[in-house]
Amino acid sequence: MAEKLWDVVIIGGGPAGYSAALYCVRAGYSTLVVEMLSAGGQMATTSAIENYPGFVESVDGFELAMTMQQQAEKFGSETLYAQVTSAQLEGPVKTLETTEGPVTARSVILATGADPRPLGLANEDALRGRGVSYCATCDGGFYKGKTVAVVGGGNSAAEDALTLSKLCEKVYLIHRRDTLSATRSYLKPLDKAQNIEFLWNKQVTGLTADKKLSGLTLTDTVTGEESALEVDGVFVAIGRVPNTWLVKDQVALDRQGYIQADETTRTSLPGVFAIGDVRQKPLRQVVTAVSDGAVASKFVEEYLNGLD
Ligand code: NAP
Repeated sequence: MAEKLWDVVIIGGGPAGYSAALYCVRAGYSTLVVEMLSAGGQMATTSAIENYPGFVESVDGFELAMTMQQQAEKFGSETLYAQVTSAQLEGPVKTLETTEGPVTARSVILATGADPRPLGLANEDALRGRGVSYCATCDGGFYKGKTVAVVGGGNSAAEDALTLSKLCEKVYLIHRRDTLSATRSYLKPLDKAQNIEFLWNKQVTGLTADKKLSGLTLTDTVTGEESALEVDGVFVAIGRVPNTWLVKDQVALDRQGYIQADETTRTSLPGVFAIGDVRQKPLRQVVTAVSDGAVASKFVEEYLNGLD
């Protein structure tokens, strides 16, 4: 990889990344996707996507990811399975250090997505996979017939609570306010589910565990009163943290830490573009991620034409 100067290197093989790869390679540019694990990013952890146009029945996120990768590679896009450890993004030649050696490119598209936000509790990391989860679709099956809690008040928390209510005996939905910010379409099904109980104005301030989680400490956000809740698992759904550590000192970020890039996907650095969940935008969905990928190719082309 070291000797080749790629026209476009895309960091991240989620739907945004492979959409950009498809469009760039079809525009005639040598295109490499650098992906750490396997295609799909967060999308690959969703078993049933119901709002991606073109599928009357829901589509499996992992399968859709594989198809997107195959489609881009059919036209000549390549994938390097590696972690990018550092990036030098200034100037006409960008250099990425990866666990598989250096990669050089004339333009770089950042498609690194966003990870679930943790609660920030001391033993949280140690209990990942032992009662603490960030993906109901992935891990819900382990809690069949059990008692779980979902933390959060947005669409993810609402969706997770509904998913888990079909598997678990009891689901507590814990929110630090007294109303959900989830869209209205979730509210009726949540109210109808017999086994979902809302715990309003509560913050999770402790995780009780021996080898695995057995309960939560809750603190009332109005009165400050503490209480204990016995659960077999907790699903944290309190938003996302954009993956920008690689580039945060080189490109401008917004106040929430997302990469500043408007609808052109151009960042503050010439020849560097940001697409998908890592970019500032009003709606983070598969459909907006793939749209970003297509748009980026147009501005990559404009940039590369300017260099020639
Ligand atoms: P979100 O909309 O940002 O909601 C985060 C929730 O977590 C809010 O209720 C917030 O409470 C709470 N929260 C944040 N930090 C917290 C903390 N430290 N402790 C306790 N609670 C905390 O995040 P999201 O639900 O993950 O959704 C992210 C994006 O994905 C959104 O654009 C959403 O529309 C989209 N999404 C769409 C669908 C769908 O269309 N089917 C499904 C899932 C997600 P406050 O209100 O108090 O800040």
